[in-house]
Amino acid sequence: MPLFEFPWQRMAAGANLLSPNGDLGVTIFEEITALAAKHQAINLGQGFPDTDGPGVFKAMAAQGISGHLNQYAPGSGILPLRMAISDHQKRFYGLDVNPENEVVVTTGATEAIAAAILAFVKPGDEVITFEPYYDSYGATIGLAGGVHKTVALNAPDFQPGLTELRKSFNARTRVVVLNNPHNPTGAAFGRELLAEIVALAKQHDCLIVSDEVYEHLTFGFSHIPIATLPGAWDRTITISSVGKTFSFTGWKVGWATGPAELIAAVRTVKQFLSYSSGTAFQPAVAEALASQTGFFTDFAKDLGDRSEVLAKGLESAGMTVYRPQGTYFIVADVAPLGFDNALELARQMPEKIGVAGIPLSVFCHEEAAERTRTLMRFAFCKKPELLIEASRRLSLLTAKLGG
Ligand code: PMP
Ligand code: GLN
Repeated sequence: MPLFEFPWQRMAAGANLLSPNGDLGVTIFEEITALAAKHQAINLGQGFPDTDGPGVFKAMAAQGISGHLNQYAPGSGILPLRMAISDHQKRFYGLDVNPENEVVVTTGATEAIAAAILAFVKPGDEVITFEPYYDSYGATIGLAGGVHKTVALNAPDFQPGLTELRKSFNARTRVVVLNNPHNPTGAAFGRELLAEIVALAKQHDCLIVSDEVYEHLTFGFSHIPIATLPGAWDRTITISSVGKTFSFTGWKVGWATGPAELIAAVRTVKQFLSYSSGTAFQPAVAEALASQTGFFTDFAKDLGDRSEVLAKGLESAGMTVYRPQGTYFIVADVAPLGFDNALELARQMPEKIGVAGIPLSVFCHEEAAERTRTLMRFAFCKKPELLIEASRRLSLLTAKLGG
């Protein structure tokens, strides 16, 4: 990667938004959502549901605003929310998290990721992620002056090769960022792989930052937080948020949990990024986390059914589909339709066929973009009738855009 003068340039370059000649782009989510809006296309690009979460929590947040919850929350988050996060970790995973000093509430998972990376990555430190990777990892590693190392996830199952994984660690590795279940591929990582990551992190004395925002969105099995594995807790910062689990992506309430020393570091950085946010939302998020277990399992089941609706639709439109194990997303290959560049196609689709998707190559470094060139990510957190209509329109791709 070329060297840039200013930190913001390193940040933009880390997320593939800055070309070597200085051209600056916006995130693919912003670009494609704007195109979808302009052409009134069905937006299967940016991952947000088309149905809000439960009205009871919306009402609580509304009451917070019309009532008295309009000033700063404490920097770590209100205690009832920290207690709810702690209870949630105990109830689902058997983890003991002290709400006093092992939880910090953040402005979405995004701020927790940034604070964790900025807290621990020194210039020149290496940070490992899987590739494709969620864009904010590359951005914050770039801002911190870290060196971003990647381990490939390839179709069809998007699991990493163990040899490549082992080779990616060395004495300069400071952090490994795990995202499980994984955006954009929809892969989930099992106990054996997680144990290998813990062993490698131990061997090379590095931290694990585990982004688990899709923890409840798994299809037919339960998510395993890496922090639950033997030897992992002491070196792991686990991150999640209200957005995906409860269909409130705009609320931007997230959190990080982990040992007190690590959380103190994350909190220290976080307090100068935003200090605190979302006062009126915090009690509602606490209430949401205490929902009956059936809420979580029913939502996952419903989402899994919708993923199948879209999978079948994309298959009948002629694409090769890689079924997800979790998340909001499904990956499909447009090569069988005769297209060889999913990025170009994604930029034309909203106008030409009225559907938006996200090309996988934008989540990759240039060298790796090649192996994901014909892959496109589609979000299925939408009403089934919309998914069916989107599939119908996608079946016209070759006819309208001549693959
Ligand atoms: N991590 C991953 C993997 C995501 O897909 C997203 C997108 N929502 C985030 C983090 C950001 O979460 P939040 O909206 O809570 O900041
Ligand atoms: N997480 C969302 C996605 O992957 C996007 C969030 C954003 O726009 N930054 O689609």
